[in-house]
Amino acid sequence: MSHIGFIGLGMMGQPMAHLLHGAGYTLVVRDANSTVVQAFVQAHPGTVAASGSADFAGCAAVITMLPNSDIVDAVVKELAPSLPRGACIIEMSSADPTRTRALAAHLAGLGLGLIDAPVSGGVKKAQAGTLAIMVGGEPALFEAQKPVLEVMGKAITFVGPVGAGHALKALNNYVSAAALIATAEAIHVGAAFGIDRALIVNVINASTGKNNTTENKAHQYMLNGAFNSGFSLALQAKDVGIAASLGQSVKHPMTLAQKVSGMTDEASRALGAQADHTELYAYVGQQAG
Ligand code: NAD
Repeated sequence: MSHIGFIGLGMMGQPMAHLLHGAGYTLVVRDANSTVVQAFVQAHPGTVAASGSADFAGCAAVITMLPNSDIVDAVVKELAPSLPRGACIIEMSSADPTRTRALAAHLAGLGLGLIDAPVSGGVKKAQAGTLAIMVGGEPALFEAQKPVLEVMGKAITFVGPVGAGHALKALNNYVSAAALIATAEAIHVGAAFGIDRALIVNVINASTGKNNTTENKAHQYMLNGAFNSGFSLALQAKDVGIAASLGQSVKHPMTLAQKVSGMTDEASRALGAQADHTELYAYVGQQAG
């Protein structure tokens, strides 16, 4: 098995890289935070902490799991000249599909491939290796990298040309954010009318309003005040903004997405960079007059 590069050992990247190490891959890792790199290398024998781009020269594939397209572009463009011809970037962050296409074109000029393979399922599914992965790119590149993806995910779906994975991921997260805000509003309004909050969630879960927030977030992270799902509000706001921009780029107004994007942006600015996205529940509650 050849070496795999892994860049971005955050909430998601760390458990994903852990599974790849367990599956027998030798990893070359990098993160802007040297503490997380040292901790990972110590816990995963044989792993190389990259001190520069040259350390990735033996990698036929490099996974990126980074916050946004600005960072992905900078990291990948700096790294690319050091990679062997034919190597593939597996871009697993949630990023802007238009910029992903431009990055893939840049890499093609250097004899390198890129597939976008963003994930859904959060930290728990990353730990379990059961992420949903949606893949865009050349079908042959996808087939070649499928065994690597299968270590980290269960529902792995090829969705179209490069960028299609990132587009679908942003659209998914828009739907998820809209449902979260709708759920938060319903709980606060029901409670103001005198209905027990837990009861509201349980009844919606037995009814047609059931969604991922009512099933997997309301009791687990919101009603109990834990707000520790591991997915930041800033990242969620980024995703909804990408979806809303995508609508504009194909001349669809996406009226609701514009509204949800405005609400998540505003909440993210008010609550700060460290806020968990489930804190939107408390934020929506504070909007009552
Ligand atoms: P995170 O902030 O926990 O991790 C990002 C990591 O990237 C950090 O360790 C940071 O130090 C590192 N980093 C930042 N700039 C860097 C650079 N220039 N070079 C090297 N490393 C750098 O974020 P996360 O929650 O792990 O999310 C990562 C990506 O996955 C994001 O695009 C996010 O939208 C997406 N995502 C997150 C979740 C979730 O539940 N957290 C779920 C699905 C998708």
